[in-house]
Amino acid sequence: MVHFVGAGPGAPDLITLRGAALLERADQVIYAGSLVNPALLSRCRADCVLRNSAEMTLEQVLAAIESAEAAGKTTVRLHTGDPSLYGAVREQMDRLDALGIAWDVTPGVSSFSAAAAALGAEYTLPGVSQTLILSRMAGRTPVPEGESIEALARHGASMALFLSAGMLDALQSELLKGAYTEDTPAAIVYKASWPQERTLRCTLGTLAETAKAAQITKTALILLGDFLSADFERSRLYAPDFTTGYRRGTEA
Ligand code: SAH
Repeated sequence: MVHFVGAGPGAPDLITLRGAALLERADQVIYAGSLVNPALLSRCRADCVLRNSAEMTLEQVLAAIESAEAAGKTTVRLHTGDPSLYGAVREQMDRLDALGIAWDVTPGVSSFSAAAAALGAEYTLPGVSQTLILSRMAGRTPVPEGESIEALARHGASMALFLSAGMLDALQSELLKGAYTEDTPAAIVYKASWPQERTLRCTLGTLAETAKAAQITKTALILLGDFLSADFERSRLYAPDFTTGYRRGTEA
């Protein structure tokens, strides 16, 4: 059996209880390189085989899983954050199905959640934005045409951008073609929840220079939108005049 497990954003106590239990029982763990905190691997049994997938091809990962399966052993495939985001898990799942190997998935805390926690931010502020766009710049791997940053930026929604910290000059000018301005609040969150975590608040106009000055080129999320500013409306849900299924409000 193969368990895909979300390792969380970095801090070793931000893995789920289920994920931790699976790690503790695994015969083999194939982990996603430097984005997985090595402290998590100390949960593994002393005789657990550890493999770093950053040094492996998909074929090598599958071969390691197949030989464990042939010996009746269990593999944990440990992905950073939540496996469903930029995890390249689907290609593994499809091949495992073809090989008749059973698998399941344990979700994880994604880095976009850890970044909001680091900033004390809420992506969905009433009257500001009720939408969070999770995306990335096209780089060596392309992005479908309708999902260019320029196209997504037309909404002016809250944004969390992965895998883009090394392309901030280009990102900044793409974002400026949309609904944002030079003054739109932005933040760079480096290694959210790791001991080395850094949060840099800036504006869209100063995004690239802020990262350059701090020498941040990877393992960072770029957050953008008016949700990072101070102005918003209070929620209706908790307003005294608002009636819900659980509470009678003072409205007529
Ligand atoms: N599945 C992961 C994302 C993997 S893609 C998740 O759910 O978070 C790798 C990208 O995620 C990095 O380039 C960076 O943009 C972001 N990332 C991963 N961990 C991070 C962290 N602790 N802090 C900030 N960004 C992180």
